[in-house]
Amino acid sequence: MRPVPARLTAAVASAAAVSVVLAALLTAGLPTTPYAASQGVLAAVAAGFGVVVIAQLARLRVRAGAGHATLAWGEAAMVVLCVNLPPAVIPLVILAGVGVSHAVLRVVDARAGRVRSARDLLYSVSALTVAGSLAALTTVLVQPVHDVPLTTRGVLALCAGALVYCVVAISLVAAHVATSRGGRPATVAVELLRGKLLMVVGNIAVGLVIVWSCLTDALLLLLLPPVLWLLQQLYASRIGDREERRTWHEFAEATRDLNRLDVRGTADAGIDGARRLFGVTGARVILADGTVFGTASAASTSSDMSSTASSAAPVGHALAVGALAVGELELTGVGRLRPRDQRMLDAFGDALAAALHDAITQDALRTMSERTTYDAIHDPLTGLFNRAALLSRGNALLRRRGVDDPVAMLLLDVNDFKEVNNALGHAAGDEVLRVIAGRVTEAGNAGDLLARLGGDEFALLITDLDTGGADLALAAAVERARKLGAQLAVPMRIDGVLLSKEPSIGVVVAAAGEVDLTELLRRADIAMYQAKRAVQPVAWYDAARDDASTDRLALLAELREALHSEEQLTVELQPAVSLAAGAQQITGVEALIRWKHPRRGRLAPDQFLPVVEASELMGPLTRWVLDRAIGLASGWRRAGLAVPVSVNISARSLLERQLPETISDLLARHRLPAELLVLEITETVMLSKSPVIDDVLARVRRLGVQLAVDDFGTGFSSFTVLTRLPVQEVKIDREFVAQMIDSPKAEAIVRATVELGLRLNLRVVAEGVENPDQRAALATLGCTSAQGFLFHPPLSADRLAAVLRERRQVQRRHLRAEGAG
Ligand code: C2E
Ligand code: CA
Ligand code: CA
Repeated sequence: MRPVPARLTAAVASAAAVSVVLAALLTAGLPTTPYAASQGVLAAVAAGFGVVVIAQLARLRVRAGAGHATLAWGEAAMVVLCVNLPPAVIPLVILAGVGVSHAVLRVVDARAGRVRSARDLLYSVSALTVAGSLAALTTVLVQPVHDVPLTTRGVLALCAGALVYCVVAISLVAAHVATSRGGRPATVAVELLRGKLLMVVGNIAVGLVIVWSCLTDALLLLLLPPVLWLLQQLYASRIGDREERRTWHEFAEATRDLNRLDVRGTADAGIDGARRLFGVTGARVILADGTVFGTASAASTSSDMSSTASSAAPVGHALAVGALAVGELELTGVGRLRPRDQRMLDAFGDALAAALHDAITQDALRTMSERTTYDAIHDPLTGLFNRAALLSRGNALLRRRGVDDPVAMLLLDVNDFKEVNNALGHAAGDEVLRVIAGRVTEAGNAGDLLARLGGDEFALLITDLDTGGADLALAAAVERARKLGAQLAVPMRIDGVLLSKEPSIGVVVAAAGEVDLTELLRRADIAMYQAKRAVQPVAWYDAARDDASTDRLALLAELREALHSEEQLTVELQPAVSLAAGAQQITGVEALIRWKHPRRGRLAPDQFLPVVEASELMGPLTRWVLDRAIGLASGWRRAGLAVPVSVNISARSLLERQLPETISDLLARHRLPAELLVLEITETVMLSKSPVIDDVLARVRRLGVQLAVDDFGTGFSSFTVLTRLPVQEVKIDREFVAQMIDSPKAEAIVRATVELGLRLNLRVVAEGVENPDQRAALATLGCTSAQGFLFHPPLSADRLAAVLRERRQVQRRHLRAEGAG
């Protein structure tokens, strides 16, 4: 808070000085009346002085604008002075009385922690002196009342004088509060006048009663103290009520203002609220992390007769939510807080702490989500977009172009990048990648989309090629690739070593409406490998040379996408039927993967599994099939159609030690009993004698899951496998089934397998049964079940469910018929 402005003080003090000097001059020329002489002017002056002092000491403190003011019994004193003293003496008596009383109050205030400066004191005394002088003048102008019997007009004159005193005093106080604390003087004055209204009326009445008592019987004055005490209590409670209402209103407003979602806004609202609620001169919010909001204004000594209060040392109020420290609210110039203010500060502190905590959490969440969105689409090493961002943004860019607009993809792979890592370490490798990323960025145009695909591979999508025909577009793209290659080949210094890293760049140009990003990347990939093979910096895509061998990587990339898409992968289900109990009885169902490729059409497992088996995608793919198959079987079981489901597991998946856990999780999640799951493992894998596979198989078996030897017979010398491993089923390879009618050798193998299987108590399933001859021969041999086109082709999940339902109805009818017969 600023101190009372010097100019305002000077003006009021001068006015006071003028009135006092005039009064002194007039007093000096005053004829000593016989009455005055007889009463003793000195006694009257002394009495007047006493009244003024008492009136000022019995003050009440009220809120005024952003500060405080004190209200006193000045009007009562004024009435008494006007009757008892010659007008000219009044300013002198007021000056003396107010001066002395305020000097005393200043000491009292200082004890209470409210420091008032000398200038404040001067202002207060001057203001009241000016008010008193004008009041005396007003009274005299209406009707001189000193030393004459009181008439009606005299009473009016006294009232007028008292009102002038009140208005002038309050205006000057308001001017001070407004200039030092902010706010409009008129508003503060009106507020103070409203608060003081009852007091003014009471004060004037008390003054008149005192005057009347003096004139009638001075003994009556003895009755006065209790009346005055009661009045004082009444004033105090009135003011208290008003303040209470106002304070809680302000409190509600201040706490409502705290509801912001940002930390700065909340802290500022808290500081603002603290200033308004506690009339402090400065406030700061210091967060637990050390961030500071607001300023601690220089603690100023403040205030005049009316406005209060500031002790120099800041007061800290801890802000906490439960046991969690949020920070501190530091207030400067609080003075000593009354118990109610202390409670309010506690409540406000709690509200502020909660609001800050919320805002901090919000801020953290915001940054975190910004961070994760950023991380999700950026490569952490180079800050370039990653593959996912390239795909989504690239596809969006393609859609925005015309169908025939040419677009180009440059796929860039740094030659022999591994050597950098091996020779200089990974940090140097990272640095090389960053330099390359920087150079490619520099070489790019505004409309290009650049991404790091991973490792040392970068992709640049160019969508603003000249549209002068396909050949021109390709020429332009190749030209850009050449330039880029040359720029990247410029030697760079890494760890003090001068390196030159040349890239191989694959270029493809296509019409925007014809391809998607995956296809562009696939073609660019083929071109890039061509460049590498030919030891050329740049090569472009040639549809004629787009064969399967160059396609492997693209295929894997596409499968990765397919695993995330809902539509592309499905399983078909092929039932195996009982040969003994009749083909109506389904003994099991085999899940067979299918890939509905968006561009290549329907792919059979043979077309992609060999590639996938050599990659790290086999795990996720197996998991996907298991999840789907177990889910379906669980659905059938819930529908009362419990039938085991078989899933083909390749060697690579059996090498993953966590396979048993994955399976047990899936079984639990879909609530399928383990014995309703059969894992089909080819005979060759079973023969591998790998300790890892043996361990995985044993643990799977321990779950209760059944095992089947698939493609049995292809490993020949393999009958031992049936005794060595914990299997429950053996599937005779369809090659032998196909030949068993014509080839005695094939027939012998089938026969031996069936016999051994039956002796070992295994189910024997013949695969690929295509005609009734095969079926009859197998039945004669005692083969348990058969699977093949003769009975069912692989079916969609819906078709299979329908078949299962139908079979059950047929069986029921049979049972009923048997029961009837
Ligand atoms: P598989 O385990 O021998 O599966 C049986 C294959 O024989 C299936 O071919 C099926 O469609 C086909 N088939 C069924 N009945 C007949 C028939 O009467 N005559 C003939 N000639 N063929 C018949 P598909 O679906 O093309 O699967 C080929 C192979 O791919 C499967 O051979 C299996 O080894 C593998 N496979 C399929 N799905 C999965 C899978 O989810 N995971 C793994 N790891 N391998 C799978
Ligand atoms: Ca199989
Ligand atoms: Ca098979």
